[in-house]
Amino acid sequence: MNPNRSIRNILFVTSECYPLAKVGGLADVSSSLPRALAAKGLNVITLLPAYPGAQAQLENTRTLGSIDGPLLEPGLSLIEGTVKQTGQRVWLLQAPELYDRDGTPYADAHGHDWPDNWQRYAQLCRVACKIASGHVADWQPDLVHCNDWQTGLIPVLLKQASSAPPTLFTIHNLAYLGLFDGDIFGQLQLPASLWSFDALEFYGQFSYLKGGLGFADALTTVSPTYAKEIQTEAYGCGLDGLLRYRKKALTGILNGVDYETWSPETDSAIAFPYTSQSLTEKTKNKQYLQKQTGLASNPSEPLIGLISRLVEQKGIDLVIELIKAYADEPVQWTILGNGNADYERELKALADAHPSTISFTPGYDEQLAHQIEAGADFFLMPSRYEPCGLNQMYSLRYGTVPIVTPTGGLADTIVHTTPGTLDKKQATGFVTKGADLPSLKQTFKQALNIYKDKPAWLKLRRTGMQQDFSWEKSAAAYLQLYEKTLNAMTT
Ligand code: ADP
Repeated sequence: MNPNRSIRNILFVTSECYPLAKVGGLADVSSSLPRALAAKGLNVITLLPAYPGAQAQLENTRTLGSIDGPLLEPGLSLIEGTVKQTGQRVWLLQAPELYDRDGTPYADAHGHDWPDNWQRYAQLCRVACKIASGHVADWQPDLVHCNDWQTGLIPVLLKQASSAPPTLFTIHNLAYLGLFDGDIFGQLQLPASLWSFDALEFYGQFSYLKGGLGFADALTTVSPTYAKEIQTEAYGCGLDGLLRYRKKALTGILNGVDYETWSPETDSAIAFPYTSQSLTEKTKNKQYLQKQTGLASNPSEPLIGLISRLVEQKGIDLVIELIKAYADEPVQWTILGNGNADYERELKALADAHPSTISFTPGYDEQLAHQIEAGADFFLMPSRYEPCGLNQMYSLRYGTVPIVTPTGGLADTIVHTTPGTLDKKQATGFVTKGADLPSLKQTFKQALNIYKDKPAWLKLRRTGMQQDFSWEKSAAAYLQLYEKTLNAMTT
């Protein structure tokens, strides 16, 4: 065997990919990382389900043919194409009965998970394994890169196969365990020996995520701090024991930013492009945003932006309490998000009661997300845990100062403002002491004071705008890990 085999072909399997289907950060990573790897000379194919509207966003499409075999649903086929907007090479798994549905990839319009999610993603995994075994289109990957629970069965299935390529499994969010009733295990016709606490069983249920964590050859997560946190009981979601057991296989690699999509000088979604040397244009974006979201036009009051899934993880309850505490102060808020109905109701009530200072836009709106990044002064992200987080990094590039909690990727990317860090041009934002209301209030007050100190404020924004979180470094780290994993298999 050649111990220095280098990687050429990667199959990147995901359940979301911008702009074809996006629920959260996974979609952004699935768009950027494969392209960054392709730029390094790798031949990367991204495999995902053909959700509604996905194929229409491709060009140079061709049908790779139908896919059949044991335990595959009838009528599966693969379409190859290039994403028009980004140039990414993808294979879409077509199975209209499984994937051609309104709603999000995972849930119906009312937010209820599709009851057959176990089958929808088991089929994706089985097709990935068929490709991995070299049975599709004369192409075989050297390694399969899996992402989150939806792809968790791939490492499990490939470990049962002979001469299969190695797998790398990335944890984008450990809290989504991909849990199903135990009887699903029987329906999948997996070897009975896998129904055990040291394989796929998780407290009487079946966890797809646990499959990925237990069986992949290499594990990564999306920031060094989160890699440490998930090995503790507090953040481990019941899987910290397994992660401690596999700690030698686990690496934290920070996600990058796609600066082609997220740069204020070239962003076509914003009204007034700008750079760190033309921040007066940013003020025009602020006024534009105030108008767009119905806030009073006011260039001098601080405007706090937030774009998020409205879930407990993101500290939305803390945000609501902070807004209430400042409701009669000269501070404006603009919030975009969807998720938990109670949070949506509370935010709407606050916006209705204070229309000139608080705006809440329910739903998902890519264009408004860019306009908030460009127009807000601060970006609030008080997450209880945050595997990596992208918006704080986008905010830095837009000169929108992040206020974050000291967890996961937030801790790894934002340098708290003190007189010392400001002086050394290291400060990029505000990091609370903890994810609790008193800490958040204290840090928020400090942030508003810096906002009033114009020289400090300018220095802080400019330092943030100079930070470079491009994919280049992260893609190099993945490439190195792919090669290490492949060579560990072949030696
Ligand atoms: P997560 O993956 O936990 O949702 P990240 O910060 O990693 O959080 O990524 C979230 C991504 O989704 C960002 O690109 C963010 O701008 C986007 N996003 C979240 N909610 C919305 C929304 N309501 N409208 C537009 N974009 C959103």
